[in-house]
Amino acid sequence: MSLYKVSPSSAPEAKLRQELSDAYHLCVKYGWDDLIYGHISVRLPEEPDCYLINPFGLLFNEITPNSLLKVRVDGKIIGNNEFNYNPAGENIHHTIYLSRPDVNSIVHFHSTNGVALSSLKDGLLPLSQHACHFYNQIAYHDYEGIAIEETEQATLLHDLGDKDIMILRNHGFLTVGRNLQDAFCTMYTLEKTAAIQMKLLATGKEFAMIPKEVCEKVVQQTTVIKNCDLEWNAMVRDLRKEQTESAPISLPAGRLLELLEKYENIDQENLFAAQTIQH
Ligand SMILES: [Zn+2]
Repeated sequence: MSLYKVSPSSAPEAKLRQELSDAYHLCVKYGWDDLIYGHISVRLPEEPDCYLINPFGLLFNEITPNSLLKVRVDGKIIGNNEFNYNPAGENIHHTIYLSRPDVNSIVHFHSTNGVALSSLKDGLLPLSQHACHFYNQIAYHDYEGIAIEETEQATLLHDLGDKDIMILRNHGFLTVGRNLQDAFCTMYTLEKTAAIQMKLLATGKEFAMIPKEVCEKVVQQTTVIKNCDLEWNAMVRDLRKEQTESAPISLPAGRLLELLEKYENIDQENLFAAQTIQH
C-alpha cells in the first residue's frame, strides 16, 4: 500500500518533509514514541498558515516524507490523504501557530521519563548540567483532560506565554522553536534531563542541587557553547547509519553542511531534487 498521497509543492517543502520524517524516526530511535500518539509539526515558510504534521494512525517509524499531512491553521487538510490528523494535535499546534508567529516548529510526545517528570509536584529540578540549561526557561500547564477542547486553547497559550518549553503536567513535554532543529534539539536535552532526574530520584539517595547563580551562569554559557545545527546533523548521521535499506535520503540542514557545501561547490537544490525523485 502506498502512503504517498501528497506531492510536495516545492523544493523547500520537500526538504522540510524529509527533516520532519527524520524527526519522527529519531523519536523511535531514542525510545520516546507512544504508539501512534504524539505529534511534531513544522510550519511551511512559504505558506505560513500551513504546517506539516503526522497522519493519525501511523507508527512514528512508518512515517515517510510524503505521508505527512499538510494542514492549514483552520484545520483543513491540503491535498488528499487517506489519514486524518490527531484532533488533540491539531488543537495544540494550530493554537500555538496562530498566536506565536515566532514559532515555526512544535514537538510534543509522551516519553516515559517526560510523563513521569511532568507528574512530579516540584517539576524539573536543577540536579545536572543538562537541567541548568532550563533554569527559569520552563512554563507549566495543568492537566485538563485530552487536549481536544477549544476551552484549553486559552489556558495553553496563557501558560506558554513567550517561553519555548512547557511541561504539560501529568502528560509530557512540549517544545517550540524557530525551526524544527531548534525545537527538536531542545527536546533532546530536556529528555536527557528528565532521564537523569528520574534515575536519580529512583535511587532514594540524597542529592546535591546546583545553586541558582551557577544555573544562571550555565544559561548564559549555553548560548555560546550549544550548537543546534551540529547536534541535529549528528543525530541524522547516526540515523542514516541505521537506515541500511532503501530509505529516503537527503542532507539535513545546518550550518556545518552549508559550509561544507560551499566548500565543495555542490548545488544543494539540484542534489536534493535528484534524491527526492527516488521516493
Ligand atoms: Zn499529548
